[in-house]
Amino acid sequence: MKIEKEITHPIHPRHKLTLNYTEAPFNCDGCHEAGIGYNYKCHQCGFHMHKVCAVGAPTITHPFYKKCEFKLHHHPPGQAKRVCDACRTHIHGFVYHCNACDFDLHPCCASLPQVLDDGQHHLYLCHKLSSSCHGCGGKGLGWSYRSKCRTYNLHLSCVKEMLVESWQAMYFNVDKNKVREMVTTIPRLKGSMQDRRGARGAVEKCGRVAGAAARVIISAILGDPSAIVAAVVGGIISK
Ligand SMILES: [Zn+2]
Ligand SMILES: [Zn+2]
Ligand SMILES: [Zn+2]
Ligand SMILES: [Zn+2]
Ligand SMILES: [Zn+2]
Repeated sequence: MKIEKEITHPIHPRHKLTLNYTEAPFNCDGCHEAGIGYNYKCHQCGFHMHKVCAVGAPTITHPFYKKCEFKLHHHPPGQAKRVCDACRTHIHGFVYHCNACDFDLHPCCASLPQVLDDGQHHLYLCHKLSSSCHGCGGKGLGWSYRSKCRTYNLHLSCVKEMLVESWQAMYFNVDKNKVREMVTTIPRLKGSMQDRRGARGAVEKCGRVAGAAARVIISAILGDPSAIVAAVVGGIISK
């Protein structure tokens, strides 16, 4: 992926987008998922895009699907609701889709690094989980990150859930204004927060086991594995 300081993008043709860095989560106007770290932003409109959504290749391949060719679509193809095969959540905007096999990947999921480093462990991206996940206790569908020592086993879907729960926990316990502001910026969080009112199980269970690991996975899911996740995310999980 080439990193230009300034780009123009067909979904926001009126203004230039400039490379920007933020530790506060933003809502990507391409894939409509949350983001953090490096992004492309229109300063006039407050329009944001993940780096990968803005400058990702129109066609990609992925080591987990050797025969597939994934094409970037600005809208999910077809009428049916589509689910990302990596993180098992719905797709609301930009998607990498393989026409032959009907596989779908969020752009951020498609570009997750095969290896993450949380400072103590290397975490390897796995297509299928062979031992139980620390988040849900199961071996269900979807990708996960696993450490070689088997200390950490975490579904992307479970880490995403922890992220919502930790933001929700902030909402009820820490800094209500900050989280209220975040819910306004990232409408997708609102539904999940209301549905899951009071549920803090996974954060507490998983947070204790996998603090640093979870943080580095969260940054990757949010589109920038190198980002230092803001206190908003890190505070609760590290406890
Ligand atoms: Zn995006
Ligand atoms: Zn603009
Ligand atoms: Zn395919
Ligand atoms: Zn995904
Ligand atoms: Zn899980």
